[in-house]
This record gives sequence, structure tokens and C-alpha cells, in this order.
Amino acid sequence: MQEKIYLDNAATTKLSEEVLITMMPYLTSQYGNPSSAHAPGREARMAVENARKKIAQLLNVRPAEIIFTSCGTESNNTAFHAAVNDLGCRQIITSQVEHHAVLHTAEKYKKAGIPVHYAPLTENGHIDLEGFFKLLEETGRNTFVSLMHANNEIGNRTDIEELGRVCAGNEAIFHSDCVQTIGHYPVDFQKIKVHFASASAHKFHGPKGIGFLFVREKTKFTSYITGGSQERNLRAGTENVAYIVGMAKALELALENHDREAAQIGAVKTMMREGLRARFEKVLFNGDSIGDSLYTVLNASFPLSDKTEMLLLDLDRAGICASGGSACSSGAGSHVIEALGTGSGRVNVRFSFSRYTTTTEIDKTIRVLEGILQPEKETV
Ligand code: PLP
Repeated sequence: MQEKIYLDNAATTKLSEEVLITMMPYLTSQYGNPSSAHAPGREARMAVENARKKIAQLLNVRPAEIIFTSCGTESNNTAFHAAVNDLGCRQIITSQVEHHAVLHTAEKYKKAGIPVHYAPLTENGHIDLEGFFKLLEETGRNTFVSLMHANNEIGNRTDIEELGRVCAGNEAIFHSDCVQTIGHYPVDFQKIKVHFASASAHKFHGPKGIGFLFVREKTKFTSYITGGSQERNLRAGTENVAYIVGMAKALELALENHDREAAQIGAVKTMMREGLRARFEKVLFNGDSIGDSLYTVLNASFPLSDKTEMLLLDLDRAGICASGGSACSSGAGSHVIEALGTGSGRVNVRFSFSRYTTTTEIDKTIRVLEGILQPEKETV
């Protein structure tokens, strides 16, 4: 079988072996329901609460501020639901470059009569802070702000510490989709004044289908999913014990090794960027690729031609897994690139890296790209 080169880590990451080992007892012998009062139930409860404590400690928050959910998407939906239904928000500010889990949710509330405003962007896809501050002043109190910590397609990072301060000054409720940053950066929610923050384990070598929502103490809300009284009535449904345990382990490993891995992955990104620049005269990079950007994401663009038209497919045939943008909208074109206005006449490929990406793989990817694009060297 052809060896795959996996460069789509912003879509999802490989489950860490150590994480799987930690999860195994809860997938096999320790199958109690954490809501049961008997011994296996109590054991499961203990595992869930220990995982909550670990995650809370890693983010410098209280365990009660962590609500387990099924994924980043559910976490985002829960924050919107809470803001509009329980916290009296009557206006929404978000941006055109958010993940669909935010954008489509905002649109849902817009249809229900809540005005949605989009923060202006700078040329390279950052939030235009001055423009945002002005907008927030105009919308006034009772505004819900949902702006992501880092963009999953182009990698741009946002200073949510600064946004948090301004939101607090304007009495706005602030949510940040931190799905691409929690597990990739040390995050301290004592410094970042969000009310809500979303995370998802499969982006940092944990299992798919588990996430959490950080909810600042005293932010009172009712469950988005109704049913039992799990998660102190804030999220109904039997807790996914094994995955919760796995998520806590994955976050612990990610942060323990953060400095070394960030440097290693950052070097891989630089190698890819410089390699592409050296070989393809007309390559461009979407977003702020060498500025305030994720070390895990590089979004390259090539002029549209008969050689680049099927680029993702050609890469896939050569065993290289990359993507055109968010995995959740594959095939639909990128709303992020569209918002940037840089996509016309070009083909965009997102390469995203992890602790498992090697320099040999980057070398091979560049060689494969040369093979695909070489005949067009003069124009590409
Ligand atoms: N938000 C961002 C920024 C993402 O990158 C993703 C996943 O691609 C999500 C939300 C959705 O997370 P999940 O796949 O856990 O629902």
C-alpha cells in the first residue's frame, strides 16, 4: 500500500498512542455510567471528574467552568444558544472568516430576528481591530461577540486578550472558537476575558467526537441539549467517559511538550514555505503566513491552469493528503478565501502539520508538486 503523507492536521490529527492506552480501560472493563450510584458508576464518575480537573488546571480555570460536549461544533452552538436565550444578547458580532459552526449558527439566529454584524477584516485576513471596536460601540450593550482565536484555513491568529478587554469594557458577552489553539498554545483564561471558549480533542491528537466549552463562572445558562441532569444540568446526555479521559490526556501531553513541538512543527512550516517559494515563482500564501499565524497551517495558492486545476486530486493520487480549506465544507470552495478576495484565478491548498510530520515528508511533497507543476514552471 502506498505510504500516505498526511498534511491535513487542521482537519483532524492522528490519535496519540498514549492517549489510546489511557482510554482503553474505559472502552473495555470500566464501562460504568457516571450517573450510576454503584461502584462501577462511581469509578466512571471519578474518571470524568479527574479529567475535568486536569483540563481546568491546564487552562488555569475552575473544574466547574469546563462543560463536556460532543465536539467543537456543539460547543460553539451552545455558546450562541446561551447568549441569545439566557444572557439577553440582542445583537451578534462575528466575522466572515469564522468556521461554519459559528457562521451558520449566527445565520440561524439572524433568521430568528437577531441582527448579525460582521467585523471588518484587514487585507491579509486579520480582524481590523479599530473597525471592530467601532462596531461594538455602535451595537452597544447586549451584544454577543463570537470571534475565533485562530483561523483553521489560513492560520491567522487573533489577539483575544485584547478583544476580551474591549468586550468587557462594552459589557458584551464574548465567545471565542479556540478549536485550533487549545492544545497548540498555552492558554490562560485568567488573562483572556472570554465568557465562553470552544475546544475539540481531535485537533490535538485526542479522539474525534469529544470537546468542551469553557464557561466563565457566574455565566448562567440553560442546556442547549435537553434531557438528563448531566454536567450540572448544562449538557444532557451520558458522558463519553473514555473520550473525556482521552481528551484530558491529549491536552496534558500537548502542553507538556508544547515548546519543543511548536519549534519542530514551526520549522516544518518554514521549510515548506521556503521550499515552495524557491521552486514556484508565482506561489502566494493566503493570510498572514509569516506573521501572527498558527505554526501548524500554511495556505498556499497557485495560478489556476490545466496543471493546477486538479491539484488536490493529483496530490491525493501521489499519497499526499492536503485540503482546499475546511474539511467540513470540502468541495464547496472556501468562504474564507472568498472573504479575503484573493481567490480569483488561483488554486488554494492548505497544508497543515503536526508533531508527526517529518522533514522527509516535506521534501517529498515539494518534489511531487514539482512533478505535477514542472511543465508549467514558466507560468507557475
Ligand atoms: N471551529 C474550528 C476553527 C475548526 O477548525 C473546527 C473543525 O474543523 C470546528 C470548529 C469544528 O470542530 P468539530 O469538528 O469538533 O465539530
